[in-house]
Amino acid sequence: MKAELISVGTELLMGQIVDTNSQWLSQQLSAMGIDVYYKETVGDNPQRMRDTIAQALTRSDIIITTGGLGPTEDDITKETVSELMGEELVLHEESLRAIIENFARRSRPMAESNKKQAYMPKGGIVLPNYRGTAPGCILEKDGKRAIVLPGPPTEMKHMFTTSVVPYLESISDSVLKSAYVRISGIGESTVAEMLGELIHNQTNPTLATYASISDVTVRITAKCKKVEDADAILTPMVEKVLAILGDSVYSTCGESLPEVIAKLLTERKETLALAESCTGGMVSSMLIDIPGSSAFLMEGLVTYSNQAKSRLLDIPIDMIELHGAVSEEVARAMAEGVRKNAGTDYGLSITGIAGPDGGTEEKPVGLVYIGCADKNGTEVLKLSSGRSNRSSNRISAALQALNLLRKKILLNG
Ligand code: AMP
Ligand code: MG
Repeated sequence: MKAELISVGTELLMGQIVDTNSQWLSQQLSAMGIDVYYKETVGDNPQRMRDTIAQALTRSDIIITTGGLGPTEDDITKETVSELMGEELVLHEESLRAIIENFARRSRPMAESNKKQAYMPKGGIVLPNYRGTAPGCILEKDGKRAIVLPGPPTEMKHMFTTSVVPYLESISDSVLKSAYVRISGIGESTVAEMLGELIHNQTNPTLATYASISDVTVRITAKCKKVEDADAILTPMVEKVLAILGDSVYSTCGESLPEVIAKLLTERKETLALAESCTGGMVSSMLIDIPGSSAFLMEGLVTYSNQAKSRLLDIPIDMIELHGAVSEEVARAMAEGVRKNAGTDYGLSITGIAGPDGGTEEKPVGLVYIGCADKNGTEVLKLSSGRSNRSSNRISAALQALNLLRKKILLNG
């Protein structure tokens, strides 16, 4: 299968933004064993876009466009591709509902023009957009396939990973099977560097890394004639990756970090208590989402103020004032306090500055201390994300806390 990528947007041609979409898509496709023979960029101009897409359809089996799915007049990618492939656009009720809900969730008024984003090619496959408003679509005609994706990278990547990868796997003439190694505590570029040699020499299986706010995943894909042959190719590579990344790997079979923690604690019949400050109960909620969590989670306190930390965790106010609520000492005292008061095997604490304001030179936004106490003592991990985004700082602190706990549990055998 030969693929061709088309990035749409006049802003790309003017150099106002860098075309990162096509680079990322190239990496993903090559990791799936799909060759990319051409890529081009075209502006929001109907005639030139028509010419570009028409030419791509003559020489490639799959074309993938990104961009030009917005609500305005100059967003015409879906219209142009549909016209060239002889498809009519009709209102897709489900997409319209999703767009209306998206605006309602953000308490924003929806412009009439956003309705345009819910018009989809009649005979196409609609790809839902879980990160924004514009759905994507796949059109098939005479053995040619056009995959139309939104421009914003987070929306495009999520749609590609969740909807396009399974589609491409289903139409591939050889069988593709992927294993997913999930990693917490180190960033994507470090992972790529550590696996540099394997990535550089990849043939079959291939490797691709991708990151979300919470973790990094390495996708290992084997290409073979029969699916039964895949494991023989995948397993040795998964083992090599595990040997390099060590205990940063928390799952090789798709489990989430909270699921891994739930399994570890339940198997060991051990218990946990939480004292959360800036994450405000997020860790509790992530664990309580898992059926059977009552077996190990005894309590989760949100000790947000200094008074609450003092009253509920027995930390002297003087000590909090001396070191500051966001400090190694307070994280340690929180973890030890909640463990002692709840009588659990583990005590986990989080205190930090989620932002966007409230940082100082000494304690910048994104600074978080995580404490994990058990019978052998207390470990404190310091995070400094450098990000001012409150929500991502909170999510990543919650997940890093679970990761510290995971390592601590494993250390205990
Ligand atoms: P559009 O769907 O064309 O309106 O694009 C919406 C936004 O997505 C643009 O303003 C860019 O910020 C981003 N974007 C679009 N195409 C690309 C691309 N090829 N690479 C990176 N970002 C892009
Ligand atoms: Mg555009």
